[in-house]
Parts: sequence; C-alpha cells; structure tokens
Amino acid sequence: LAKENGKNNYKFFNKKLNEDINRKMLIENELRKAIPQNQLRLVYQPKVELKSRKTYGMEALLRWDHPSLGTISPTEFIPLAEETGQIVKIGEWVLKNACNQMKIWHEKGYDSLCVSVNVSAVQMQHSDFIQMVKEIVNEINIDPKYVELEITESIMQNTKETVEILHEIKAIGIKTSIDDFGTGYSSLHLLKVLPIDTLKIDKSFIEDTSDVRNLSMVKTIIDIGKNLDMRVVAEGIEHEKQIQSLLKHHCDYGQGYYYAQPLPAQDIEKLLISGELMMKA
Ligand code: C2E
Ligand code: MG
Ligand code: MG
Ligand code: MG
Repeated sequence: LAKENGKNNYKFFNKKLNEDINRKMLIENELRKAIPQNQLRLVYQPKVELKSRKTYGMEALLRWDHPSLGTISPTEFIPLAEETGQIVKIGEWVLKNACNQMKIWHEKGYDSLCVSVNVSAVQMQHSDFIQMVKEIVNEINIDPKYVELEITESIMQNTKETVEILHEIKAIGIKTSIDDFGTGYSSLHLLKVLPIDTLKIDKSFIEDTSDVRNLSMVKTIIDIGKNLDMRVVAEGIEHEKQIQSLLKHHCDYGQGYYYAQPLPAQDIEKLLISGELMMKA
C-alpha cells in the first residue's frame, strides 16, 4: 500500500510539475505579444503624507490583461520576464507610460505629484539602462526630480556595479527607493554608502503592528532610515490603527488599500476632483 501511495504521489507531483512548466512556457510566449498587442496597462496607488493625509505621489503598478488567460499578476509574470530578458522592453514601456501620465497630471495642475516606478535588478544592470532612462526623461520633458525608481534589496548583492548605477541615476536627478525593505539582504554598509532617498517598509511588518516583533522591526527600520536622512514609507496600510502606530513612531509617509487601491489614471483623477484624495501642495 505504501508503495502504491508513493507511486500516486509521484504521479501527482509529476503532473503538477508538468502543469507548472506548461503555464510558465505559455506565459513566456504570450508575454512577447503583450506590448505589440496593447495588453499592458498601468494602475496608480497614491502615496500619502500620514499626518496631513495628503497625496504627494503615485506608484505605478503594471497590469497585464491577456485576452484568454485574464489579468495576470505581476508577481507571476515579472520573474519570468526577468528570466527571459523581456523585462528590459517591458520596463522601458512602464517608465515611458508612467512619465507620460505624470506629465499629463502636471499639466492638469497636479504639478507637485511625483511618480514611482518599480525597476527590477536585471533591468537596471542592463548596459543601456541609464541611456534609456535619460532618453525618456528628455523626450517627455519631465523634471527628473518628480521621478523615483523603486528597487528591491536583491540589487544590493551586486555591489560595485550597483554603486555606479545608483550614482548615475542620482546624477540625472532621479530619486531612488528600496522597496520591500526588511525582506532581503541589505548590508548596513551598502545602505550607508548608496545614494538612496527612501526606504519602504515591507507590508509584512505593517500587517499586524500590535505584534511586538513586527513593531520592533518597524521601529528599527524607521530609525535606520531617519538616521541616514532617508524618507521612510510604510506600505500595505489597511487600517486606521496602523496609521496611529506609525505616526507614534515617527513614520511620515505611507500607502495602502486604506487610502486607495491601485487604480487606472482616470479613477485617480475622479478621486482628486471629488476631494477624496487631497493633494499636498
Ligand atoms: P511592490 O512594488 O512592493 O508593490 C506593492 C504591492 O502591494 C502591489 O501589488 C500593490 O497592489 C499591493 N498593495 C498595495 N496596498 C496594499 C495593501 O494595503 N495591502 C496589501 N495586501 N497589498 C497592497 P501588485 O500590484 O500585485 O505588484 C506586486 C509586485 O510586482 C510589486 O510589489 C513589484 O515588485 C512588482 N511590480 C509591479 N509592477 C511592476 C513593474 O512595472 N516593474 C517591475 N519590475 N515590477 C513590478
Ligand atoms: Mg514598489
Ligand atoms: Mg513593496
Ligand atoms: Mg512587494
């Protein structure tokens, strides 16, 4: 019987593995058509100053609407795009579209808004990255101080190159932040020497701030950030209670479903016009 079970388990895992591989190959192939067939779009999530509850920026988040597979999450397709190198083209599309939207918002009078764009390590280490960023900023004619690149801690592993690239980004006048901070492998030394403007506390620490271990992590990250003259942003705020706790520990900025879900640009505008979202001057 044990032997039979083992066999069935094997079959089961084998089947599951096959399905996973098929899905992966399917996504990788379909992704090639995403840009030419206009299947990508951006949604925006407000970044808010906690005390005043005013919006100072928007994070652009990528969505992929596949005609038959439905909307596929970036957590599924971004890692595959990194593996195949498609992230380079996709990342360029994201930056261009996010900057364009920001330009439109500035022209409509929301002229203090900044835009944050997620950039993966693979994309950033590509040889044309800096040139691509410069061209987009010039072409769209947006003041680079309103553009921020969010990178994850995985970038911190490749030290020498990373330092150079981050300095080049800074030289353009673009801001940088470390996303999901606390979940990766940052060395405190790199944190000290890299020109980083913002630390984003990962939402896993914000989820339950009544948990003493979470809270002590949050407090520690706020301290590190502030001591290094960085802005600290809490991600994943869903309840009023979390805001109170963050304010008490001097975290000044945040984002999360509590304020708004990531929304299409038109829906963001509706919230701005109705006053549901207030702009920071
Ligand atoms: P991220 O940059 O850390 O983005 C935050 C994620 O948390 C987003 O998921 C957002 O929708 C979600 N979120 C926001 N507020 C809340 C909240 O209050 N509670 C909870 N539970 N979640 C919240 P999303 O849009 O699915 O994106 C997932 C990840 O995919 C992003 O994490 C980012 O790492 C990556 N990603 C998204 N767009 C891009 C892109 O254009 N380029 C690259 N390289 N990566 C991207
Ligand atoms: Mg992000
Ligand atoms: Mg994050
Ligand atoms: Mg994340």
